Amino acid sequence: MRCPFCAHDDSQVKDSRPTEDSTSIRRRRQCSSCGARFTTFERVQLREVTVVKSGNRRQPFDRGKLEQSISLACRKRDVPQERIDQLVSGIQRQVETAGEAEIPSQRIGEMVMDGLKGLDSVAYIRFASVYRDFSEARDFEEFASTVQEAAAHERS
Ligand SMILES: [Zn+2]
Repeated sequence: MRCPFCAHDDSQVKDSRPTEDSTSIRRRRQCSSCGARFTTFERVQLREVTVVKSGNRRQPFDRGKLEQSISLACRKRDVPQERIDQLVSGIQRQVETAGEAEIPSQRIGEMVMDGLKGLDSVAYIRFASVYRDFSEARDFEEFASTVQEAAAHERS
């Protein structure tokens, strides 16, 4: 694994353990050149899935973006990180086991709504109200930028 600090190609694993929900392995690494420490996560990826977005734009499925949207919907709610991780992992599994190489962004948005419904009603309403305003096939990821704008307005 390349060192993010000095770009040296070799690092040593110092510690390796499963995360709380056992869906990934967390490794502490140390660069063998500059000595910097960093963490990597190893997760199962069942298959490569492409997300089809508005205007037929295509992007590889990105777990990080999914997690960002869900975390934002749950902002300042007492939703444990563990429950968010479970929801994200559940959606990732659905996406990867759907048997399709491509999935519409909209369908992932619907999975997020279903998941949030059972998790926290306020988070669900936040996500759903923004998401449903989008014209069809709009990206669920745009939810993140909308919420960030709203948060910026709250602060100003
Ligand atoms: Zn380094």
